[in-house]
Amino acid sequence: MLFGRYGTFAGGINLPDEKKATLGSPIRACPKPSRLLVPLAGEGVPSAQCCVTPGQRVQAGERIAERGEGQGVNVYAPLAGRVGGLTMASVIGAAGFFRAPAIELTDVSDPPELPAAEATVDHRTASAQTLRELLEGSDVLTHRRWPRPLRWWVRQGRQHECTTLIVNAMENQPRVTADHRLLVERGPQVIAGASILARAVGVKTAMLAVDGRRTGDYRALVAPAREAGIQLMALSHKYPIGVDAILVKVLARREVPLGSNPMRLGCVIIDAATAMAAWQELSCQSRLGGRVVTLAGEGLAEAGNFFVPFGTPCLELARSPGGFTVHGGPMVGSRCPADAVVTAATDVLLALGARPSRPSTSCIRCGWCTDNCPARLNVSALNDHFELGALDAARSAGVIACVECGICTYVCPSRLPLSQRTKGLKHALSRSRRGGGEPT
Ligand code: SF4
Ligand code: SF4
Repeated sequence: MLFGRYGTFAGGINLPDEKKATLGSPIRACPKPSRLLVPLAGEGVPSAQCCVTPGQRVQAGERIAERGEGQGVNVYAPLAGRVGGLTMASVIGAAGFFRAPAIELTDVSDPPELPAAEATVDHRTASAQTLRELLEGSDVLTHRRWPRPLRWWVRQGRQHECTTLIVNAMENQPRVTADHRLLVERGPQVIAGASILARAVGVKTAMLAVDGRRTGDYRALVAPAREAGIQLMALSHKYPIGVDAILVKVLARREVPLGSNPMRLGCVIIDAATAMAAWQELSCQSRLGGRVVTLAGEGLAEAGNFFVPFGTPCLELARSPGGFTVHGGPMVGSRCPADAVVTAATDVLLALGARPSRPSTSCIRCGWCTDNCPARLNVSALNDHFELGALDAARSAGVIACVECGICTYVCPSRLPLSQRTKGLKHALSRSRRGGGEPT
């Protein structure tokens, strides 16, 4: 068997696929933006210090801000352009958009295609120590909803003595096809990047998890994966199997405790885009400066998959006249503010048309939210706790286990914004518990 097949999990739903518009769309260069707002900080990533001056011309790949102490990263110009100055931009974080300092670049060059896959260095026989040292010196961020420096991710994996790496390419929200195209067009490079990360962390088992309906598109992965010792896993598309805690439950058969991090159970999880970025930096000795983003939705003249420079204004790519733009997919996304920009966390932008607003009504106790919740929470009770402002009761009811999948909002016949409410409760509790520490 080329792809291993695994079981599924309790709760969850089968969503309509709705990927046809972009599934076969090859990755292209994105339209030229009028300017870039390149973020200098992220959630948990302290701000880099600007090292260019207004009016200065910079080349693509030139350093424009230097990292300080701790978990910061150097920041590089994704395109050639002229420095406009320091400003602010909205970037996505765990609890939604927040504003971060940014450098404006104007008069920018044409965005490039996704760079050709041409390695200049072969790391297949490099020692784990060598790979760790190279990653320590890199400024790659993880391409996840909460981007963190990749060197921090490697250190965490080692501190927790992780034995399993899972590359999560499930992408099982409707309309999102960025990772799918990356696997189709750059699959062997994703495998090579995953192998680098597996050896750097020192895991015993490495897996790539993909949607079982698409394995026919991924045959080019089989030989490189076998050579690299990476298992290919074809999973059910039941939503939200791509959530970290559920992937660990399905693949490693380990239950992630309430509010815990899979690393504490010995599993490190990364995405295909980060594996690709790691391969590009270490094997091609060049930075990507952007990522693959799916642009979709009825408000768009041209849907597809595009290689988009970091700092590109989201609304220039996916503005919907009379509607609005969603960052992060139909189930878990957030509405883009006017100054939202593309970051390592941006996998999809949806331009949605105007919809009739239908107000929420009272809970009718149908139980659909609870029946389908993959975290097995009593969601209607949590909604009561939200309405009463009862944070302690929400804590006792286990809200910290919410995986923020959006199913409860999707199924609620009373149109209550349940997932937004459970997410709000969860982040309020997390903040009070962590005092600003690491994500869970
Ligand atoms: S409560 Fe959280 S985990 Fe459960 S369905 Fe809602 S968003 Fe998903
Ligand atoms: S799905 Fe909506 S209406 Fe039904 S029990 Fe849950 S909150 Fe109440």
